[in-house]
Amino acid sequence: MQKNYQNLIVGAGISGAVLARLLAENGQSVLVIDKRSHIGGNCYDYTDENGINIHKYGPHIFRTNDEQIWQFLSRFTAWHEYTHKVRSKINNKEVPIPFNFESIDILFDKQKAKIFKEKLLKNYGKNKKVPILELKKFPDADLKELADFIYENVFYHYTLKQWGCEPEELSADTLARVPIYTSYYDGYFTEKYQAIPVPGYTKMFENMLNHPNINIQLNIDFKDLKDINYERLFYSGSIDEFFNYKFNALPYRSLNFRFNTLDQQKFQSVAVVNYTGQETYTRITEFKHFLNQQTQKTTIAYEYPFTFEVGKNKRYYPIPKRENEQLYQKYLELAKKEKNVYFIGRLGEYKYYAMQNAVSAIFKLFKKLNPV
Ligand SMILES: Cc1cc2nc3c(=O)[nH]c(=O)nc-3n(C[C@H](O)[C@H](O)[C@H](O)COP(=O)(O)OP(=O)(O)OC[C@H]3O[C@@H](n4cnc5c(N)ncnc54)[C@H](O)[C@@H]3O)c2cc1C
Repeated sequence: MQKNYQNLIVGAGISGAVLARLLAENGQSVLVIDKRSHIGGNCYDYTDENGINIHKYGPHIFRTNDEQIWQFLSRFTAWHEYTHKVRSKINNKEVPIPFNFESIDILFDKQKAKIFKEKLLKNYGKNKKVPILELKKFPDADLKELADFIYENVFYHYTLKQWGCEPEELSADTLARVPIYTSYYDGYFTEKYQAIPVPGYTKMFENMLNHPNINIQLNIDFKDLKDINYERLFYSGSIDEFFNYKFNALPYRSLNFRFNTLDQQKFQSVAVVNYTGQETYTRITEFKHFLNQQTQKTTIAYEYPFTFEVGKNKRYYPIPKRENEQLYQKYLELAKKEKNVYFIGRLGEYKYYAMQNAVSAIFKLFKKLNPV
């Protein structure tokens, strides 16, 4: 094993893997380490004994409007075009999420539904995305009734379960990620490119990391790494852990997945059904929908959110609240004093990054380090 590298990257998730490839193609030597036994970070997937592609750390759908990101990733995988659809069980009826005109038609009588749709169109226009907290403030009795219904049945209990707090405690853009559509559009996302890698995410990362300038070491924690010399460190682990929790631990939500393989071809109509009521789980994912796999059996996962505790479970979502951002800023000040150390990714930057945002941030960093 080589001992001297220009770059050490901690974490083989999408942030670490994309950066490794860019540096390697720039002629630099890179060592990528990960404490897990696999590459891919939280995007890791595998094929189970029934031939179904499973996203181990929760359902992952890639989407972007950015041509450069799409072209870059497409060098390492073929894609299966996939429009993500989510349903929610409300009053024992299955309705599209984001809440749209079809959801209104299903849940309200004809007359009421007509009034709601007309008022939404009149006040917001067609094909718009309306954040629930904005709709809630709208000074009209009908729209207020609709907003209160959606708030209670789609957001309130779900947010309590997902984030462990009331919707109003989160940053506004978090709730705005699931808006109300003023149309019948029933896709969960609206980006131009929406897809799943045909051979899986893990294979895409394997291809990306397959370069003569890149070495990979798995099952090793950064703090246990010995006898390796490097000029620059890129750290996609948690920034508070790096600094030994000097200002307390940054809060995260963790998740528990209960997987179940069923002796039936299909369990539900779409890949993800949200449970927005009092159930203890937030959603059920049925994985075979992602690649439209035809198998005799099916595998589903119930998702249970809970509070992350250092040393006890895994970090999943940074919690987007103002006080947490302030705590992160204190770590960022420490980070700025480090020489040749860069904090990247979801954990390093304490950001609720979707995959394309993580790639975009790496592209920006790489450009900054290598101005043309
Ligand atoms: C449940 C869930 C669903 C999601 N769904 C989507 C989706 O549908 N679409 C989408 O675009 N995004 C989705 N995301 C977001 C996506 O997972 C992230 O954008 C992506 O994982 C960020 O990659 P990363 O490399 O920054 O971090 P990670 O994937 O977390 O990778 C960091 C890696 O660093 C390693 N590491 C940490 N500390 C150390 C250490 N001290 N030593 C060695 N190794 C270390 C970890 O083991 C890990 O492998 C979802 C996230 C979750 C949690």
